Amino acid sequence: MEKSKSERAYRRATSVMPGGVNSPVRAFKAVGGTPFFADHGQGAYLYDIDGNRYVDYLLSWGPLMWGHANEQIVAAVTKMAARGTSFGVPTELETEMAETVIEIMPSIEKVRMVNSGTEATMSALRVARAYTQRALIVKLEGCYHGHPDALLVKAGSGVATFGLPDSPGVPSDVAKTTLTVPYNDISALEELFAKRGQDIAALIMEPVAGNMGCVLPQAGYLAAARRITQEHGSLLIFDEVMTGFRVSLGGAQEKYGVVPDMTTLGKVIGGGLPVGAYGGRAEIMDFVAPSGPVYQAGTLSGNPLAMAAGLTSLRMLKQATQEGLYERLDAYGKRIAEAFVALGGAHGVNTYAHAVGGMFGLFFHDGPVENYQDASECDAKAYGAFFHAMLENGVSLAPSQLEAGFLSAVHQEAELELTLRAMERAFESLH
Ligand SMILES: *Cc1c(COP(=O)(O)O)cnc(C)c1O
Repeated sequence: MEKSKSERAYRRATSVMPGGVNSPVRAFKAVGGTPFFADHGQGAYLYDIDGNRYVDYLLSWGPLMWGHANEQIVAAVTKMAARGTSFGVPTELETEMAETVIEIMPSIEKVRMVNSGTEATMSALRVARAYTQRALIVKLEGCYHGHPDALLVKAGSGVATFGLPDSPGVPSDVAKTTLTVPYNDISALEELFAKRGQDIAALIMEPVAGNMGCVLPQAGYLAAARRITQEHGSLLIFDEVMTGFRVSLGGAQEKYGVVPDMTTLGKVIGGGLPVGAYGGRAEIMDFVAPSGPVYQAGTLSGNPLAMAAGLTSLRMLKQATQEGLYERLDAYGKRIAEAFVALGGAHGVNTYAHAVGGMFGLFFHDGPVENYQDASECDAKAYGAFFHAMLENGVSLAPSQLEAGFLSAVHQEAELELTLRAMERAFESLH
């Protein structure tokens, strides 16, 4: 496989950007080697600057439910750009976006647009703390919510242990306001809330975990999170930055029938442009300035190009839902997961997989992966070899086993066949 242009581009980038990238996982540290540089994308395919073509399951880390350079999205952005790229006064597009989000996710009665998932979770926590007049946040080990200081915390050693920062630069006084428990562990949640419930503003969680690979909630887990937070007067925040409009049109809350108090959105909502959003019950969202006292603002928030792209993407998803899109994604994800597990079995390699809607997780692990502990025991070397073998065979997966795989509405039977054949060859080459 030709890589010389990407290798040269990477060397050039490393002298002027930390690690040569603008977001860490892009640097391929978890799988070895150096990243390929994108030239362009079309539909389900990504083309690098050396002329290689890949069926793309990274999809810009989730946003691209319509694949690359979708004709209607490109047309909507181009048309808007010709009329102006930002105004700093309201546009009707923002209201249309809010109405569309509220229609798709009925738990959201009012919504605020921001520019990234990180901004959405950071702002949601501020509102939750103001609304409840409490300071503590509970997050789940292995869930990622962007990089606000208070959320760069995973596990202390015990259930009620105060959090320690994962990153230098996060003050320990900030990290201490975040408590963590394992994902899929109802009794750990119950114990923590029994001890500290009256001080807990909110439980923030990925309803389907997508940042320790894709890990599904066990039956009853989300309902238990709902019940426990309610019993203690804490808010339940579903971080659906990844799962929103992806595991089903209405997100994980629709798929599993559990209603959160607040929801954070990102990725798909921007149709490939930078957008985040947070919303929830009107009485909570009315705490946000200028209707309420909680300050949160953004020069480019509700940007017309981003609204045009996001709105076009959501409208097309609404239409495609009628035509069985999410059932098809469920079926494709399942076929990829089953083939991965079957090939592992045939080659004597320990494999495990999850899939739901347009998300899947492929693990080199000798047993179920139900939480971060399991995910962190996976064989990183085996995944690295598999990842590079898949690239050689024309398929781009996430460059870490602890990231989810993504499907789009334009991945069709032909791409699936190509992917399954690439997987067969990749497993053969692992020996
Ligand atoms: C990607 C992601 C974020 C962060 O979004 P950014 O736009 O990268 O800041 C937050 N939460 C979840 C669940 C995510 O997957």
